Amino acid sequence: NENKLQAIIGHCKEYGFVFQSSEIYDGLSAVYDYGQYGAELKKNIRDYWWRSMTQMQDNIVGIDAAIFMHPTVWKASGHVDNFSDPMIDNKDSQKRYRVDHLIEGYAETLDAEAGAAIIKQMELLLEANDFAGLKTLIEDKKINCAISGTCNWTDVRQFNLMFSTEMGSVADEANVVYLRPETAQGIFVNFLNVQKSGRMKIPFGIAQTGKAFRNEIVARGFIFRMREFEQMEMQFFVKPGTQKEWYDYWKETRMKWHLSLGIGADKYKFHDHVKLAHYADMACDIEYDFPMGFKEVEGVHSRTDFDLKQHQQFSGKKLTYFDTEINQHYVPYVIETSIGLDRTVMMILSEAYVEEDLSTEEKQDSRVVLKFPPMLAPIKLAVLPLTKKDGLPELAKDLINDCKTQFKCFYEEKDSIGKRYRRMDALGTPFCVTIDHQTKEDGTVTIRYRDTMLQERIALADVKKLVMEKIAM
Ligand code: ATP
Repeated sequence: NENKLQAIIGHCKEYGFVFQSSEIYDGLSAVYDYGQYGAELKKNIRDYWWRSMTQMQDNIVGIDAAIFMHPTVWKASGHVDNFSDPMIDNKDSQKRYRVDHLIEGYAETLDAEAGAAIIKQMELLLEANDFAGLKTLIEDKKINCAISGTCNWTDVRQFNLMFSTEMGSVADEANVVYLRPETAQGIFVNFLNVQKSGRMKIPFGIAQTGKAFRNEIVARGFIFRMREFEQMEMQFFVKPGTQKEWYDYWKETRMKWHLSLGIGADKYKFHDHVKLAHYADMACDIEYDFPMGFKEVEGVHSRTDFDLKQHQQFSGKKLTYFDTEINQHYVPYVIETSIGLDRTVMMILSEAYVEEDLSTEEKQDSRVVLKFPPMLAPIKLAVLPLTKKDGLPELAKDLINDCKTQFKCFYEEKDSIGKRYRRMDALGTPFCVTIDHQTKEDGTVTIRYRDTMLQERIALADVKKLVMEKIAM
C-alpha cells in the first residue's frame, strides 16, 4: 500500500539509505543515490548474488564488461530498432504515459473480470502494433479524463529507451555511442573470449553485475524503476535442444535463491510471458509482493541462439562452439537470469521494514525496525559503552578492533542505551553489545538481539564468534 511505500522512502532518507540524486537542485527524476547504509546493503546483496552464482557454481565464471560498447552491438541485438515502448501524451495535463501502464492502471480500478478483458484487448493491440487502436481504447474508456470531459491525446508513438552520447571530440552521427540498456550484450560479445581463455565446456555460464541505463518514459515507484540502475545477470550457454530442461532448472534455482533470503513463498509468483520478446522462446518473471502489489523483480528468459547468431552476422566472426562429445560445431542456446539489484534492495527493504507496537498497559511505545537477514545488514554489530568513562570506551574499541577485519561494526557512546538500541533497530543492526562496569569485573557483556529485543549476558570473548556464525552466508 501507498502508506508503506511512503514510510519506506522517508525512512531511507532519514537513516542514510537512499537519497534523491542532486537533491539540493530539486532532484533528478528517477535517479537515486545510495547513502552510507544503503551502499552497504546494496553491496551485501550484490556479494550474496555473486557468491551464489559464481563461487558456488562449478561452471559459471564472472566478468566485468564496459558500459560503452561498439554501436553495432545494439543494431545486432535489436535494441536500435526494437527497444522502445509505446507512449502517449495528454495535451491538457502535459503528462506523458507509457500506454501499457496507463491501461493497466485503469484496469486496476475495475472488477477482476472487466480488468482482465481490458488487459487482453490491450495485449492484442500491442501485439499487432495497432497504435490507432490503442489510442481509440484510451479515448473510449475516458482513461485519465475529468469525470465527464473529453481529453486531448496525442497519437501513440514509439519511444526508444536507449540513452546516447558521442565518443571522441567530433560530434557527428558516426560517433554516437549508447549507454548499455542491459548488461547481457557484454557477455554475448565475450562469449568466445571467455570460453577459449577459460577452457569452458558447455553447459557453462557467464555472470556479471553492473550499471544499465534506460530512459524510462514514466519512472515511478522509488528505486523500483530508475533511469540508471544496476543489473545482475547470468547467461548460461547450452546445447541446442536442451533449453527447456535448463530453463526449468534456472527457474527453480533462482526461486530457491529468493527463498534463501528468508522471504516466504507466498510473497512470490511466477508470471509466464504470453507475448515474448523478439529473442525469446520461453520467458517468465519472478514477481515479489511489493507495497505496490506483485511486480517483476527478476526475469528468466530462454533467448535461443538469437544474440550469438546476430553478432555472428553483424561482426562477420564465427561464434560457434565445438562440442567434443558429439564432434559438432554449433551456436549455443542461452538461458538468462536477469535481476535488478536496486529492485532487490527495494524488495529486501519492503520485507524488512516493520512498525512494531510495543505498548504496555503502563505506557505507549513503538519502534521501526529493519529485520534484514543478518548476512545482508549494513552494520552487523554495534558496540555501546554504558558510559563515556571508567575505561568502558576503551574496552568497546578493543572489541571493534578485533571484529572489524571480519565484519562491519559501529561504535556509539551518545544517548541512553534505550535510544541507541532504537537507532540500531532503524538501521537494521542485528546485534548490539553493551559494555558496562561488570564487563571489567567478569569479562561479560550484554548482547541484545534486534528481532526479539531479548538480552543476555555472554562472555566478551565469545562475541566475535557468535556474530560470525549468524552472518555466515
Ligand atoms: P519492466 O517490465 O519492469 O520494465 P523489463 O521486463 O523491461 O522490466 P528486463 O529487461 O527483463 O526488465 O530487465 C531485467 C531486470 O532488470 C528486471 O527484472 C528488473 O529487476 C531490472 N530493471 C529493469 N528495468 C529497470 C529500471 N528501470 N529500474 C530498475 N530496475 C530495472
